[in-house]
Amino acid sequence: MRVLKLSKKDEKKLYDVLNKFGEVWAPVPKGSRYVYDKIEKKEDLVSYNEFVRTILPIKKFLMPQDFNILNLSPSKFETPKVDIPTRVIVGVPPCEIHALNILDKFYTTDFVDNYYMERREKVIIIGKSSLPDEYLFSHKTNTSIVEEGYDLFFIDLGDYYLVWVGSEKGDDIVRLGSDIFSEDVPVDVAHDFVAYREKRRKAFTKHIDLEGVTDLMELMYDADFWDEFGEKCLSCGQCTMVCPTCTCFNVIDELELNKDEGHRRRYWDSCMFKDYSLVAGQHNFRESRAERLKLWYTHKLKAFIGHFGSPSCVGCGRCIITCPVEINVETVVEKLKG
Ligand code: SF4
Ligand code: SF4
Repeated sequence: MRVLKLSKKDEKKLYDVLNKFGEVWAPVPKGSRYVYDKIEKKEDLVSYNEFVRTILPIKKFLMPQDFNILNLSPSKFETPKVDIPTRVIVGVPPCEIHALNILDKFYTTDFVDNYYMERREKVIIIGKSSLPDEYLFSHKTNTSIVEEGYDLFFIDLGDYYLVWVGSEKGDDIVRLGSDIFSEDVPVDVAHDFVAYREKRRKAFTKHIDLEGVTDLMELMYDADFWDEFGEKCLSCGQCTMVCPTCTCFNVIDELELNKDEGHRRRYWDSCMFKDYSLVAGQHNFRESRAERLKLWYTHKLKAFIGHFGSPSCVGCGRCIITCPVEINVETVVEKLKG
């Protein structure tokens, strides 16, 4: 893997290089939060030192919230033609790149999801390390440092960035920007790098103790606290929408009023919704909110390990910020630990 330098005085030129590869998207403020938005001019591409948590994670680029997958008419079924633009997503934090690696596994193991793949191939990931805020706990989920899944990855070391090249696309960007990326990386840069890593490691303040949680999910499956959480849960599904590794979806056929034509929609769903587990004959095998909460947390903290070798929580802190009744990884782990 190659490591290069980018001087801060050349930072604004980066936009022009990236823009040659596709639309440039990056976090921008929206009220008191951030969203990934399209950057139209180089002045608007801002590099943040502190962790930036967008309301929705980058899964929104890989699986649209709601889209048409089939047009239906009496004479034919037709797959709609969609022009998917190439998007260069800048400022993606390590935990979200880990989430992307989890999505890659999920959507390509056993069955390849072509809707995901055709968008995945059109996304270029420019990662960036930053100092944690009070909600990030990726140091506890082993996702605070990332070694794969990005095209380029930036670490801010004061007057310059260290830039890791992680793919052929990343290499193409570096070639096109050969006047701003420098191969001259002297050995003493390592001191700055080690000092930064240490400063960042010490800056984490959210310490959720996940030790033994996988076993506790099994042992505490029938504990009373699930019913207490079930009483509070609003079934709003926000935890699912904001979680970078949640993948629930539904597919429905909708007919036009003339009943001759229609389409098949695929849209984000949530296992927190009552209807999600409703099957033929009106049987619902997760009728209670407590049962649905158990499913959500079993999937995050236990079941995913059996399938893919790691938990599917990357410590982004979104569920902590988002749940209106304080049901989140932190409060669930507190209960599991008694
Ligand atoms: S756990 Fe919180 S965010 Fe999730 S469905 Fe229940 S109330 Fe909504
Ligand atoms: S469970 Fe919560 S902290 Fe973990 S990845 Fe999902 S939203 Fe982030």
